[in-house]
Amino acid sequence: MPTLAGIRERGVVEQPDAADEVRAFTMAALAADLGVRPAHSRFGRPVRFRDALPAFYGEIERALQAEGVTGVLEQLPTLEIIDRCDCDERGCGTFHVAASRPLNQVEMNIVGVRHGESTPLDVGRGLVVVDTDNFGRVTGIEVLDRLDVAAVLKELRVPTSSGRTTR
Ligand SMILES: [Zn+2]
Repeated sequence: MPTLAGIRERGVVEQPDAADEVRAFTMAALAADLGVRPAHSRFGRPVRFRDALPAFYGEIERALQAEGVTGVLEQLPTLEIIDRCDCDERGCGTFHVAASRPLNQVEMNIVGVRHGESTPLDVGRGLVVVDTDNFGRVTGIEVLDRLDVAAVLKELRVPTSSGRTTR
């Protein structure tokens, strides 16, 4: 039979989880009202590429090492997924990431942000292309013919990119 102390203890343990979820919901609703799309998982927290898709992350890491793409490799561990492509392609696992570093005034106002490079990677399965801006910051990874990647992004409830003006 559960003791009163045991029940109290469980209550204390469970309460912060519930509060966290309510908070995450509230923040998401607030962000939607403001037209802001924060990077988040189903719990309203940012989702790191490495944590969300560890196996696929490994594939990308190995391909970047093999091809010596060090600029992208350095950013890889900290990349956070912002949203995913919402096209009709079943195996599309394309996603966008938050900028790995902020820009200074000159970079932002004088140079300006443009598309930089699209680097195709040979990962064995599917079509994978890493996109960077003109400052070498990763903006997203185009992923086609990868039902596994697409399924994880949907499962994590990563928001879709519709409504965003960037690609
Ligand atoms: Zn797509």
